[in-house]
Amino acid sequence: MITHDKLYIDGDWVRSEGDGVLEVTDSFTEEVIATIPDGTVGDVDRAVAAARAAFESWSGLPKEQRAEFLMRIHAGLEARSQEIAEAITREVGMPIGLSNIIQVGLPKANFAIAAGLLGSHEFEERIGNSLVVREPFGVVGCISPWNYPLHQIALKVAPALAAGNTVVVKPSEVAPINAFILAEIVHEAGLPAGVFNLVTGVGPVVGEAIAAHPDVDMVSFTGSTRAGKRVAEVAARNVKKVSLELGGKSPNVILDDLDDEEFAKAVSAGVGKCFANSGQTCTALTRMLVPRDRLSRAESIVTATAAKFTVGDPFDPTTRLGPLVSAVQRDRVREFIRLGVEEGATLVTGGAEAPDGPTTGFFVRPTVFSDVTPDMTIAREEIFGPVLSIIPYDSEEDAIRIANDTVYGLAAGVWGASPERAQRVARRLRAGQVEVNGGAFNPAAPFGGYKQSGLGREAGRFGLEEFCEVKAMQL
Ligand code: NDP
Repeated sequence: MITHDKLYIDGDWVRSEGDGVLEVTDSFTEEVIATIPDGTVGDVDRAVAAARAAFESWSGLPKEQRAEFLMRIHAGLEARSQEIAEAITREVGMPIGLSNIIQVGLPKANFAIAAGLLGSHEFEERIGNSLVVREPFGVVGCISPWNYPLHQIALKVAPALAAGNTVVVKPSEVAPINAFILAEIVHEAGLPAGVFNLVTGVGPVVGEAIAAHPDVDMVSFTGSTRAGKRVAEVAARNVKKVSLELGGKSPNVILDDLDDEEFAKAVSAGVGKCFANSGQTCTALTRMLVPRDRLSRAESIVTATAAKFTVGDPFDPTTRLGPLVSAVQRDRVREFIRLGVEEGATLVTGGAEAPDGPTTGFFVRPTVFSDVTPDMTIAREEIFGPVLSIIPYDSEEDAIRIANDTVYGLAAGVWGASPERAQRVARRLRAGQVEVNGGAFNPAAPFGGYKQSGLGREAGRFGLEEFCEVKAMQL
């Protein structure tokens, strides 16, 4: 049992002003594994004041020195990799092998990329008689979700600090242990007091206090579209920059020019792109669009592929599908499965019942629906569980229309025999990132959403610029 009874503010571990405590649950054993402070508005005030006081000297450091601090954090993450992977596997339920690669590998990459950019990025340019300079905003509030918890924090903290901002971080109450490890690493790395602050607590209290704070200059939020809209509303009261990384309902268009072998490969890979992290991925490709005359072939491929997603203890190396993060999330996902059946979709595999095997853990069967129509709830709403909807289409135009028929626009996939045609279709999809023929995730490429999937971009050069104000000096 881990007891965190202090927040990290102004370079020190301090008690919350309140005495509330939040419990963290293991998604497999269902036992409470940690407690953390349920922070208050007063705690946010203290953290923001510390970040404000630290801003001038931090932003005034030569960028090489800021890069050095970021690389020290990177080294700290490296040294504690195993511990971080295990903590996130307990909190979120991701199989341990994948946690090692993704939940630790990506945060490390984010710090290394931000540090590297400080060596190469041009913060100043001339436009005619103007000198245009990029400067930090000031104090940045970072509010993050639970599904890739440390990655989402690092995507904000690393570029924000690189650009010269100071930060107040509010991690998800559901998966906060990794954020405490990060704060310990930051402390050991010797960052000046107040540059990085951690306040845990619940969104409507600590999150809103950060978004509303008159001395916070920018809020960077990742989470649901519902909470993101609220953050934007609250932040608008004192007009601050808001960047939002929100939900998705991403399409995966499988074109009609693939031969049977390539078609099987595309469909099978598509199942993996939906089920990764038990479907708790904002970019999950949850709507698979297949030519109508190949629907039954797609069904038999997905049935065989889904059967390989064995549920079980996420610390067992043979487990491919861990539990969902919480009982609330499991129940929500099962309700969507019931709705899919009620609305007339064909249940190809899976279902709302508990899977055979584990006696504890918030499991949902790997589930695939076929013959889904674009108006069904399971085709429109983000489910955030291992539930794939196969939607038949009649022509390329029809596929593009269905793919874009969503309020979201975070990600998409296209598979086709002709790379030119696949890219042409990819250009017409209204989404922030599109994988063509399974193109690998690139942590340095811009990441973010069209439409109600968000505002702004994270990662790499675009992510760094997101944390910069722009000043033009006419000379
Ligand atoms: P939530 O929106 O519930 O929570 C995200 C964060 O916001 C948490 O820290 C939460 O606090 C906080 N929060 C909740 N309500 C408010 C509020 N009123 N004001 C300020 N902060 C608030 O999302 P989940 O954690 O459930 O994460 C899942 C969602 O995140 C999915 O919709 C997913 O698509 C999206 N997501 C998007 C990504 C992207 O890059 N586009 C990446 C990853 C996830 P608390 O601790 O109380 O929950």
